[in-house]
Amino acid sequence: MSWQSGGVRGRFAPTPSGPLHLGNLRTALIAWVAARSAGGEIVLRVEDLDPATARAEYDESQRQALLALGLDWDGPVMYQSQRRRAHLAALDVLRAMEVVYPCFCTRREIREAARAPHDDGPQDGYPGTCRQLSAAQVRAHREAGRVPAWRAMAAGDRLEFRDLVHGTSSGVCDDFVVQRNDGLVAYHVAVVVDDAAQSVTQVVRGDDLFDSTPRQRWLQDRFGLPEPEYAHVPLVLGADGARLAKRHGAVTLDDLARRGLAPRDVLARLGASLGWCAPDDHRPIEALLAAFVAGFDVAGLPREPWTLARSLA
Ligand code: GLU
Repeated sequence: MSWQSGGVRGRFAPTPSGPLHLGNLRTALIAWVAARSAGGEIVLRVEDLDPATARAEYDESQRQALLALGLDWDGPVMYQSQRRRAHLAALDVLRAMEVVYPCFCTRREIREAARAPHDDGPQDGYPGTCRQLSAAQVRAHREAGRVPAWRAMAAGDRLEFRDLVHGTSSGVCDDFVVQRNDGLVAYHVAVVVDDAAQSVTQVVRGDDLFDSTPRQRWLQDRFGLPEPEYAHVPLVLGADGARLAKRHGAVTLDDLARRGLAPRDVLARLGASLGWCAPDDHRPIEALLAAFVAGFDVAGLPREPWTLARSLA
């Protein structure tokens, strides 16, 4: 069964804040195989939006890791840090539509409001304090030198999306931040604007982002952008059951190479974890990938997390 007919464009969207670990690589492998099995393309976008966490050396090592596994991409690499003009233009659209509002709350005020017992807003979301500010109150805040964040008027809106792992899904939005008060454009805005700019039709990513999808769908609707097809795949866990991280041991290609596992061995084990081959499969990378593409079936996408065996970690 193919993913969808024609015109599929998947993407890798790593944040260069550390080396890719087996969990990231496994998700990238699924994204690549899904796109290629549909005869589609896959693009790379470096999500280096936040200068506090993005590092050029990780961008380089992440690309090398993908290529070492044979996971190539089409066309030029997009750097999110170079997309500020498009992101700001998108925020202007939201302001012109009057579907966002300035929020002057401090983190502490938000924390305290969220703890208030009368709270009938979203459990862990923003309680909407600044949604009701009058023009005079906004002016007073500004005159006092307070710089606002901007929030979407989205609380309570339920958005649906098609997910090939979870089926038709939906979730309720909160008044999420679209721009931080230091000017940084929020991830949700950047991802939606940039996926559209790269003509992405297929978003394969870790299911830690499942709950973000209603917000992104909300933005797509406001911008009049088409809805991509989603596949939120389960994360890889360490032997202790926690989400895979550096502390779990040898989790990057470099770590594993030091233990004598070549990229091809790693690819075979990732494929085996997906039921695509045997862990001791000795075919070269190109042959393994070709077999994964030929045998790919959406219905066989993983639904349970993969707990990394100690032998690999
Ligand atoms: N850049 C995000 C990450 O590395 C992924 C964003 C996405 O796939 O939408 O976690």
